[in-house]
Amino acid sequence: MRSKRDYYEVLGVSKNASEGDLKTAYRKLALKYHPDRNPGDKEAEDNFKEAAEAYEVLRDAQKRQIYDRYGHQGLEGSGFSGFGGFEDIFSSFGDIFEDFFGFNSRRGGRSRAQRGADLRYDLSISFMEAAFGVETTIDLEKHETCADCEGRGAEAGTQAETCPQCRGAGQVGRSQGFFTIRTTCPQCRGAGQVIAKPCKSCHGSGQRQVRKSVSVKIPGGVDTNSRLRLSGEGEAGAMGGPPGDLYVFIHVKPHEFFKREENDVICQIPISFVQAILGAEITVPTLKGEKTLEIPKGTQFGDVFRFRGEGIPSLRTGRQGDQIIQVTVKTPTNLNKKQEALLKEFAALEDAKLGKRLKDLFKGASAKAAN
Ligand SMILES: [Zn+2]
Ligand SMILES: [Zn+2]
Repeated sequence: MRSKRDYYEVLGVSKNASEGDLKTAYRKLALKYHPDRNPGDKEAEDNFKEAAEAYEVLRDAQKRQIYDRYGHQGLEGSGFSGFGGFEDIFSSFGDIFEDFFGFNSRRGGRSRAQRGADLRYDLSISFMEAAFGVETTIDLEKHETCADCEGRGAEAGTQAETCPQCRGAGQVGRSQGFFTIRTTCPQCRGAGQVIAKPCKSCHGSGQRQVRKSVSVKIPGGVDTNSRLRLSGEGEAGAMGGPPGDLYVFIHVKPHEFFKREENDVICQIPISFVQAILGAEITVPTLKGEKTLEIPKGTQFGDVFRFRGEGIPSLRTGRQGDQIIQVTVKTPTNLNKKQEALLKEFAALEDAKLGKRLKDLFKGASAKAAN
């Protein structure tokens, strides 16, 4: 930051310069140091800002009076602190820059342009669609730039006129003691322009509500709370501003058989107690069809098996998760006489085995005790 120069000196005018003198002087400097003409030139940028600040103060009778009496410090006390950046300068001097560069100048036009609002759409998809991805279209109501007037709001062949109340600034100042309070212009509601003959299609708003189908490509691996951004599919911007974005929030419906944990797919498969004891080959549904699983002899309730790479792809890396198969064992009911008899025989053998083992155990224990 360089130290502040005298505002009259900056503009090269005398202490009793008229409003017209100030404007002419500022205009000359603004054109000379305009960033469009001096791209990347820091010195020019500083000069441009300095001139803008000087003009902002001296064109305002109230601020000029404070400055004349108390200098830079007086202004700081009144809440004026110069400009933050170019956007600030352009939005404050919208009217003057239109005079200087014409309404369609890049910066002049941008000063009032407003980005459109973002939209949210909640989309429900099935478990399988989330796993593999899906292309779908969503219908939404939104505002688009009116094609008939190209968003200008004025009937074709007519022009919007600079607002007489704020002279295009979009804001009006009201003095209150040392302060100037700026509020949105009531006549043009901040647009800086008034439209004499509004466009018939949009009634002068420059936008029309439309129903629009937007196609959405959902990648495999999304989950509930995944959010997709469709750039530029939100509401139209105002005064030539860019449109907002559309955010699609994903909700995945639960599956009757599969559950999801991160990128793994979990399922439970019931097997019979005989299969658990003797082992078996069983058929297991996967996301992509059926697969055979070898159940080893002596499988316990709750044992877990894994199909590597049969899960859901990671949204970030594309690496596939696993399918995890949890085995449950069904206890048979409604046995017939023969099955019962066989099981009793089996039980007797088990008891004999168990009894021998227990006896061995006690023998060992008493032998130890004897020592
Ligand atoms: Zn106005
Ligand atoms: Zn229109």
